[in-house]
Amino acid sequence: MTNQSREISLQRADELKSRITDYLEARESIVRGRDIEDTIAERRLAIMKHFGNATMEDWNDYDWQLENRIADVETLDKFINLTDREKEDIAKVGQEFRWALTPYYLSLIDPDDKYDPVRLLSIPTGIEIVETEGDADPMGEEYTNPAGSITRRYPDRLIINVTNQCAMYCRHCQRRRNIGGTDHHQSRAVLQESVDYIAKTPEIRDVLVTGGDALCLTDETIDWLLGSLRAIPHVEVIRLGSRTPVTAPQRITENLVNIIKKYHPIFLNTHFNHSQEVTEESKAACERLANAGVPIGNQAVLLNGINNDKFVMRCLNHELVKIRVRPYYIFHAKHVIGTTHFNCSIDDGLEIMEYLRGYTSGLAIPNYIVNAPKGNGKTPLLPQYLISRGKDYATIRTWEGKVFNYPNHESKNIRDLI
Ligand SMILES: *Cc1c(COP(=O)(O)O)cnc(C)c1O
Ligand code: SF4
Repeated sequence: MTNQSREISLQRADELKSRITDYLEARESIVRGRDIEDTIAERRLAIMKHFGNATMEDWNDYDWQLENRIADVETLDKFINLTDREKEDIAKVGQEFRWALTPYYLSLIDPDDKYDPVRLLSIPTGIEIVETEGDADPMGEEYTNPAGSITRRYPDRLIINVTNQCAMYCRHCQRRRNIGGTDHHQSRAVLQESVDYIAKTPEIRDVLVTGGDALCLTDETIDWLLGSLRAIPHVEVIRLGSRTPVTAPQRITENLVNIIKKYHPIFLNTHFNHSQEVTEESKAACERLANAGVPIGNQAVLLNGINNDKFVMRCLNHELVKIRVRPYYIFHAKHVIGTTHFNCSIDDGLEIMEYLRGYTSGLAIPNYIVNAPKGNGKTPLLPQYLISRGKDYATIRTWEGKVFNYPNHESKNIRDLI
């Protein structure tokens, strides 16, 4: 290497560093769950004390977490500092939309910060019932149900909705139509009907088991359902949709992962929205899954005031990769009644994508997806990297905004060449 090329390389290295100094500074003020483990542990102790001096064994038990979900204002008020107005609002919203959070998820919230992202995701605010715009079913789901509890919108894959139960009822839930009345799992008969449809539909090679939350089913039902699907020769891949690694990581037990690993390849997609949710406990849950050979993906939702920020989203994706969760999608939030205060502009989503590609590992870059109206399909949006495309040249622009012409000649037949 000549002195000159070393000098140029060093200059370039400085330039590259200058491209992330703003992020490194901003990151100082973005809360990451694993950095505040001591604070979370203190809150955990206080919550355990409140629930009859519960033990760590109780805390680590998923049933205990579900049985002790916080779903009334008086209990919530013991752990979160609420104004009288907020208490009234929460009670009022509760009559219209269900809310409940696990003691675990409660332990992630800063009691004094009204804008704490985990609080915004889980605790109702008065605005939910003030909003009048938004649809109940923007996806047109009733027209895509060929059998049982299936939603089919694509040629080779479909969803089985197995339950409307969730460990927590997210304030931004895009399925409010289904979630939040009373909990009910689909009956065995309906699940069997869904399995039968898949068995007689040979083009289906990928089945998503979701809800609600697929892991709200009992271990026994999961074992039966995964076994029934795996017995269908043309089902290549099975995916589970569950937010429990985020809201109730205690659900990911050794018993559960031992069931899941009998039926590989099983993938799991979860739903982290903010780096504050990536804690030691959720890391341990994802580790149990990953160690059982389950590849984990993340489907975040772009939410105003929570993660519609290029640095917050970059930080989330880094925290996910560190716990072996691969960012899969960022969903543009649909226009759902009671959640429209969370809606963002498409410009927010595009800006986030603009500051991922090039700035960070491809491993930490999900696809940004807008759901086309009326269930017409997931549609990826990207900033414009292809400026124009002609017969001989395409004009591209790089992550740093450099513009190049790139040859674009017609492919020749390999048999004419070799
Ligand atoms: C989202 C979705 C899928 C899965 O889509 P991928 O892009 O493969 O993750 C399948 N079926 C339905 C009905 C869906 O909404
Ligand atoms: S886990 Fe998913 S389906 Fe359940 S309430 Fe949250 S967003 Fe809705």
